[in-house]
Amino acid sequence: MKPPAHIDRRQFVKLGTLAATAAWLPTAATAAMTPGAPYTLPALPYAFDALEPHIDKQTMEIHHGKHHAAYITNLNTALASAPDLAKLPLEKLLATLPAVPDETLRTTLRNHGGGHWNHDFFWKTLAPVETSGKPSAALATALATAFGSMEAFKKSFGEAATKRFGSGWAWLIAQDGKLKVTNTANQDNPLMQGVVPAADLGTPLLGLDVWEHAYYLHYQNRRPDYIAAWWNIVNWPAVSERYAAATEKH
Ligand code: MN
Repeated sequence: MKPPAHIDRRQFVKLGTLAATAAWLPTAATAAMTPGAPYTLPALPYAFDALEPHIDKQTMEIHHGKHHAAYITNLNTALASAPDLAKLPLEKLLATLPAVPDETLRTTLRNHGGGHWNHDFFWKTLAPVETSGKPSAALATALATAFGSMEAFKKSFGEAATKRFGSGWAWLIAQDGKLKVTNTANQDNPLMQGVVPAADLGTPLLGLDVWEHAYYLHYQNRRPDYIAAWWNIVNWPAVSERYAAATEKH
């Protein structure tokens, strides 16, 4: 391996040594790229610093490169011993968890399969302020019908996110053609039939990660401040498209 043109040989050797001594760091990101493994870490659809000041660059780097990558690594490891389950689309796998007889495997798929699905969904739910847009007319009308107003919807969603004790997610879902706010613990989500209560099942339109790893570096214990800032970077065109697809399906 040759040093890049802008780095002299001595610097290059030093960098190599640093890389070697950093070998104790979690290798989740590389393990997630194992050839032949069913799942790989998707690249973020924007730069790590694109959501600043609302979500800082370092939080995004760790959240994506370490946390999300680790869910994928653990999901792949679990599926290595379950080739039939490895063939299922992830949403189907999450919807059929109760049919997995081995409790240890089922729990791993629930936590890490859920972790992968939720984070993939979360990155696509966000956008830099300049492109975050606003809800489509159809979605705006549906939100006003279901909650009374956009502000009332945000209040309801914010409460679901704030009141989720410990780690979990707040969701806006389409359920039997109607909009509903709910929340789930850990990495559970509204696709997990037989795992989360029927009242929380539906098509996710919007999801907010309220694990401390999502905000603690910048906001420390101030979860409500993180939630308030997060509204600035919601990818409303993406959420509107999900709503349109869910309405068609219904
Ligand atoms: Mn997370």
